[in-house]
Amino acid sequence: MARLGVLGWPVAHSRSPAMHNAALAALGMDGWRYQRLPVPPVLFAETTRALAGSGFLGANVTIPHKQAALAVAIRASPAAREIGAANTLTFAADGTIAAENTDAPGLIAALGQSPRGMRALVLGAGGSARAAVWALREAGASEVSIWNRTRARAEALARELGARAVAVPEPADLLVNCTSVGLEGPALERSATVDPALNQLGLTFDQVGEYSYVVDLVYRTGSTALLAAAAAHGARTLDGLEILVAQGALSFKLWTGREPPLDVMRRAARGEGAAG
Ligand code: NAP
Repeated sequence: MARLGVLGWPVAHSRSPAMHNAALAALGMDGWRYQRLPVPPVLFAETTRALAGSGFLGANVTIPHKQAALAVAIRASPAAREIGAANTLTFAADGTIAAENTDAPGLIAALGQSPRGMRALVLGAGGSARAAVWALREAGASEVSIWNRTRARAEALARELGARAVAVPEPADLLVNCTSVGLEGPALERSATVDPALNQLGLTFDQVGEYSYVVDLVYRTGSTALLAAAAAHGARTLDGLEILVAQGALSFKLWTGREPPLDVMRRAARGEGAAG
């Protein structure tokens, strides 16, 4: 049995097992299995090292372990090192742990168009914002600005990654929400012109119309207030599940060497059909 999994705490709600097991099944990879690996922070390093000797070939890493994943690895890609976090670990037969960050290229792949020359505004200054800022800068965005509720964090991130911190969300071509705002609250079928979630992002409904492409890393059942407002303004939108699928597909290819079946992974992540 070749084992894969997702390390997190908590990890019960992760859609990665359904997505990866569906991909493995679709490719007839019967000897492979992907499972949840709930591991508290205090046990992360020793559990991860033990996985390497227990038939595991790799693991995804999610909240709150992405920085610890980089620290436990012997080797790391330049992207993982520069972002300071890893979401994908690969275990070699001799127990060597290698770290990669597929969140960054996953975002760019999911965009479906190059951000080269675009002005981008990233909302948030946590782990996923780090990967997004780095990815957009590397992919040639003409300007990457960062707005965050706690401004000092936006300034620190901007200094570190060569971006610009802004006091209020400014108009741009591309808006990427990397905060957790939008996770809670009712699912929206239609946009509300006044919504508390938008206010928490420093935006009004009308201001959302100042972005031609709006991306929300948050994933949930139903649209977020941000994406509903963007759609109402006629903007292009991309939801967090597409980004989850894109990063998962890159991890899958890294571990298996096989071309990931994107549609299968997408359907499973969205809870459509048998997920395996
Ligand atoms: P994180 O490191 O904990 O950062 C959270 C960010 O959200 C911070 O910038 C924080 O601002 C901001 N925030 C939290 N509550 C807020 C509020 N009420 N009002 C305004 N800002 C608020 O989290 P993360 O790892 O970056 O993840 C952020 C979101 O992205 C989560 O929902 C996560 O599930 C999602 N995500 C999705 C994918 C995907 O593949 N689709 C991948 C990674 C993450 P302060 O600095 O002011 O606290």
